[in-house]
Amino acid sequence: MFSPATGKLTYPQPEDLAIAVSKDAILFPLKEHEIYRDTTAFDIGIYNGKRLVCLNLPSLEHGTPLRTFFTEAEPEIAHIAAFATHLVRWRATYKHCPSCGKPLKEHDFERCLRCEACDANFYPVISPAIIVSVFKEGKILLAHNTGFPAGRHSLIAGFVDPGEGLEAAVHREVMEEVGISIKNLRYLESRPWPFPNSLMAAFTAEWESGELKPDGVEIERAAWYGPNGELPDLPPKGYMARKIIDEWLAADKLQRKGVQ
Ligand SMILES: [Zn+2]
Repeated sequence: MFSPATGKLTYPQPEDLAIAVSKDAILFPLKEHEIYRDTTAFDIGIYNGKRLVCLNLPSLEHGTPLRTFFTEAEPEIAHIAAFATHLVRWRATYKHCPSCGKPLKEHDFERCLRCEACDANFYPVISPAIIVSVFKEGKILLAHNTGFPAGRHSLIAGFVDPGEGLEAAVHREVMEEVGISIKNLRYLESRPWPFPNSLMAAFTAEWESGELKPDGVEIERAAWYGPNGELPDLPPKGYMARKIIDEWLAADKLQRKGVQ
């Protein structure tokens, strides 16, 4: 069981557990972490009764690439890794006060950094994003984003604008990217996605009106795909979009079995 701490700076002790995070990889547990006893680490919490510290190392020879780690790890380990990665990146970015430029200090007991000159606290930044599965007559909307590998299709997703609610963001993204209106929006689940600091909220909805018109900027191609037809190249397992698509396919299979 993992209970997160505030992430204060500390030094690894022999009895600690350690996780290592670099720019592009993670190693957990980090064995023989005693060699880092003079390196500052973050106290990130208690895991299975032991203190867990996180070392931010320049490179990890035996580490797992970040995206692979997050898509393959068990939920609790993924939570620990997401928390550690988020804290490390936040602390690496927030060294000075964004208002006056003076060095920030650790808060005595909260998970935030403090500028005493401005009497201001700076908390870890979390960027909400949405993802949505849209259905029309039993078919799912899949789209190719210009940033994807060739042929890859996925669900519509995007960041929430300042001042916007999650539901409004879903309606706006779908309209902006493929030009259709949706209805019967329903919340599914959420997941942190620390690249670098997103919190992804998943929804499902039904087509209401309009023809698919990819915006040509972010979305190059979009189409409706039935569960029995050929599907395009999908995101790898472990991605939230893939989980939602796989659950739809599994539910459809189950339903057809029931009918037979
Ligand atoms: Zn300041």
